[in-house]
Amino acid sequence: METIRNVVILGSGCAGHTAALYTARANLSPLVLEGHEPGGQLSLTTLVENFPGFPEGIQGPELIENMRRQATRFGAEYVLGHATKADLSQQPFSIHVGRDVIRTRTLIIASGASARWLGLPSEQALIGHGVSSCATCDGFFFSGKEITVIGGGDSAMEEALFLTRFASKVTLIHRSEQFRASKIMLERAQKHDKIKFLTNTVVEEVHDVSKKEVTGLKLRDVKTDKAWDLPASAMFLGIGHIPNAKIFAGQLDADQDGYLKTKDYVFTRVPGVYACGDVQDRRYRQAITAAGSGCMAALEVEKFLEEHEA
Ligand code: NDP
Repeated sequence: METIRNVVILGSGCAGHTAALYTARANLSPLVLEGHEPGGQLSLTTLVENFPGFPEGIQGPELIENMRRQATRFGAEYVLGHATKADLSQQPFSIHVGRDVIRTRTLIIASGASARWLGLPSEQALIGHGVSSCATCDGFFFSGKEITVIGGGDSAMEEALFLTRFASKVTLIHRSEQFRASKIMLERAQKHDKIKFLTNTVVEEVHDVSKKEVTGLKLRDVKTDKAWDLPASAMFLGIGHIPNAKIFAGQLDADQDGYLKTKDYVFTRVPGVYACGDVQDRRYRQAITAAGSGCMAALEVEKFLEEHEA
């Protein structure tokens, strides 16, 4: 007989693990599909200093591994893979993972958001050859080299600061003079003697696709319209993220950038389907808020299943 799950959770970042912990402790035997990037954004970060309970901070990968172990202890089941299609038109819902189909009474979408790219053909051609969106993954390869970081938010500041451990010089390139980064992170980066800031500057091309390595960037000063080349061995992107919600297009409401729209924190327009974490939160986007909304989604699942007992 076909198994129908009580709850399937898409994503294994902060929101997904917290939803897994709560639904597991409610004896709902959650199934977590780990997604494209298991562990989510915390697994790609370094020291997390703003998650309450860790006065000295904690490494992102360690925090996320702790969450996973905690949920597993109560019976959460984790499966590698990501949902390729979803049918939310009838109960139970169908979640496709390649050729396999999982049926479930409720669904928690905690699929997060993935790094945004500039979209330049030369950038795309050099991903993994000096172009990267993950300083913690790839910084090590550029020891003693001059490298660049793109963006003006906290991600870019964090990447630039982290990369000073390896690089001889980090040039932070931002398209305007206004920074979205928090004051504390911006000041830390500005004060660092290895980091140089280039504002009002955009990247037009990454050299050198023919050599299959990054040798420099073609930049343009948007105020003077002057183009020039900056030699560099790597380009790290820190320009934000795109929500992972494409498979729900037409089935759930999303805003113009693709973030799922929710009501009363975690309710989508389909009863029994909840969204939490960065896939639906473009405002706060913190580990702690993602965990909080994962908890809310789990509590709503419990309530839904109680009210719709099979
Ligand atoms: P943000 O949206 O805050 O910043 C994105 C930056 O990238 C902006 O400066 C934006 O420029 C720039 N940008 C976007 N698209 C392009 C493009 N196509 N070309 C050039 N530049 C572009 O994203 P973050 O990922 O930095 O931060 C997201 C959230 O996560 C924030 O709430 C942040 O506080 C949090 N965070 C916290 C950290 C911490 O506390 N340790 C670490 C990392 C993130 P413009 O301003 O001109 O639009």
